[in-house]
Amino acid sequence: MKVRRELNVENNLYFPIVELLELMPEFFPKFHFKIVEDDELPPDVHAYTDVQNNVICIKRSVYEGACNGNGRDRMTIAHEIGHYLLICVIGFKFQRNFSDSTIQKYQDPEWQAKCFAGELLIPAHLVQKMTPREIAVLCGVSLPAAETQWSKLRANKGRRYNVQNGFITP
Ligand SMILES: [Zn+2]
Repeated sequence: MKVRRELNVENNLYFPIVELLELMPEFFPKFHFKIVEDDELPPDVHAYTDVQNNVICIKRSVYEGACNGNGRDRMTIAHEIGHYLLICVIGFKFQRNFSDSTIQKYQDPEWQAKCFAGELLIPAHLVQKMTPREIAVLCGVSLPAAETQWSKLRANKGRRYNVQNGFITP
């Protein structure tokens, strides 16, 4: 919600994710992003964030897909921006599990980036009464992503939604 407010798109269903990516160097002078050719990355890697060097690398097909409104590609970019903001800007600890000890789900950077991307592209306060299909079309996300976020919202039903703080228990 803070990111949406900063960009003055608090009530836009369709979040301008590519525009945010392109604006990021203005907000964070160390940050840059790089478009790499598809054959430079393994087939299952669509993009990645190098937190050490402040760079997000994105496959050309993913970047172009996001520019053309492809939901999955838009979510990929939101996910990487999530990694960057949470670790490099907000300073979340980069938890990795090198030992046998288990880390909490919320400490997992992948879980954190997933939540960030879902919340950013599918604003809870605007989609309360929509179906997953409507969410997919209007927010520019894939149907599976819309369904996942939709069921999370259902799980939070009964809680009051507060734009300042997110969900709060009654
Ligand atoms: Zn990730």
